Amino acid sequence: MKQHFDIVVVGAGPAGLNAAQAAGRAGATVALLDDNPRAGGQIWRQGPGHPSQAPLQGLLATLKMQTNVTLMPSTRVIAPLRARGLLLESAELGGVSIGYGQLILATGARERLLPFAGWTLPGVTGAGALQALIKGGMPVRGERIVIAGSGPLLIAALATARAAGAQVVAVVEQAPSFEVARFGISLLAEPAKLRQAVTMTRGFAGVRYWTGSIVRQALGDGRVERVTIQRGRRQLTLACDRIACGYGLVPNTTLAQALGCAISEAGQIVVDSEQRTSVDGVLAAGECTGVGGAELAGVEGEIAGLSASGTPASGASTNRSLANPIALHTQRARWQRFATRVETAFALQAAARTPPDDATLLCRCEDVSVGEVRAWPDWREAKLQTRCGMGACQGRICGAAAGLYFGWQAAAPRPPFSPAQIGTLMGAGAEAPPTE
Ligand SMILES: Cc1cc2nc3c(=O)[nH]c(=O)nc-3n(C[C@H](O)[C@H](O)[C@H](O)COP(=O)(O)OP(=O)(O)OC[C@H]3O[C@@H](n4cnc5c(N)ncnc54)[C@H](O)[C@@H]3O)c2cc1C
Repeated sequence: MKQHFDIVVVGAGPAGLNAAQAAGRAGATVALLDDNPRAGGQIWRQGPGHPSQAPLQGLLATLKMQTNVTLMPSTRVIAPLRARGLLLESAELGGVSIGYGQLILATGARERLLPFAGWTLPGVTGAGALQALIKGGMPVRGERIVIAGSGPLLIAALATARAAGAQVVAVVEQAPSFEVARFGISLLAEPAKLRQAVTMTRGFAGVRYWTGSIVRQALGDGRVERVTIQRGRRQLTLACDRIACGYGLVPNTTLAQALGCAISEAGQIVVDSEQRTSVDGVLAAGECTGVGGAELAGVEGEIAGLSASGTPASGASTNRSLANPIALHTQRARWQRFATRVETAFALQAAARTPPDDATLLCRCEDVSVGEVRAWPDWREAKLQTRCGMGACQGRICGAAAGLYFGWQAAAPRPPFSPAQIGTLMGAGAEAPPTE
């Protein structure tokens, strides 16, 4: 190994940043790596016109002062290596291998995209993807956008799109109105969240917010021009330039699975009260352990950082917003309760869980339809027979959709986890663990 760190943190979102800060304060040598050029993860993604703001600014300022913490931006984990090592590919350093005493996985979540007729037309993205594109500098001023799918991310996308000058034609939420209303009332228990929701939605003034509704088809000649929406028994068609449709998030457990960590039936990395996984020396925090928002991810990250550096979280609180020793576990329980309320309110209903027509493409990379995939008994067989999930995204999108529709378990991912230079792979050489 070229370099060794006491603790390596993978992912520089709210969980990873807090983990690195806590571990750094405890005196450990820490590497914090992320495949994005700038830290912040999904929610605090930086980009042109989106500079870092609080709380990211504060975290980065503290990390800068911690000389024992090394930030490694634009760095991807390509594969695990023998003896607590990782093979990395970095924009600056190329292929490198590093060793760790403890590893903290803070790899976040991915957006769940569900196919519908016409979803491969240019102009169709996920709702979170729209967020990322706008923060990355994509102009949407004057565009008519339909935001669809499910969950609070639709509201964040609404706010971002409007702030960027787009005209949001409608927000189409699959959850039924009574569940959404009940969730809205429950926000009275979290006044900060309620204020945030009111600010982001502007009280839904000037925008249609349709509950119990689902996108059925994107139409257009070479690009999205219209969208058909199912509202109860009615179908309506709206003119639009863009559709941003995402059905919540799916924990990113790729690295955890490859390391042999136990994964729950819900697809989350299983952790104990100190954020330790089932594998010795590997901890996990944030949305890879369950989708719950930035506050929960941050608290879990801090607990993981303290735990990995040998400081029990119940014995010290270092979080800037927490004041007493038991606060970390208390805060985690609070945000876990909030996460449960979100999960209940925005649980996918039958309309979203039902596959579209057989002719609809399920795998965009390899052009495989729903009908071709459903003919096989499991994911592995479907992959082997149809090439579904074997394209550029390696089943990250269609695998989650097939899992939802057909109840299939995805096979454990095999490295390399993303395209890598041949020199990087050869450099790993004898350090690579044996494959099956
Ligand atoms: C596309 C998308 C957009 C979102 N936008 C918002 C939003 O605007 N507002 C909001 O409230 N919530 C948003 N969310 C929800 C958001 O995920 C959480 O609230 C919060 O960011 C979770 O923090 P985290 O630290 O667990 O993970 P994340 O913030 O997701 O951070 C995980 C980081 O790990 C990196 N990573 C993963 N695997 C590897 C690897 N192998 N090698 C290197 N780096 C790796 C990822 O690139 C990412 O930067 C979004 C989610 C998604 C998927």
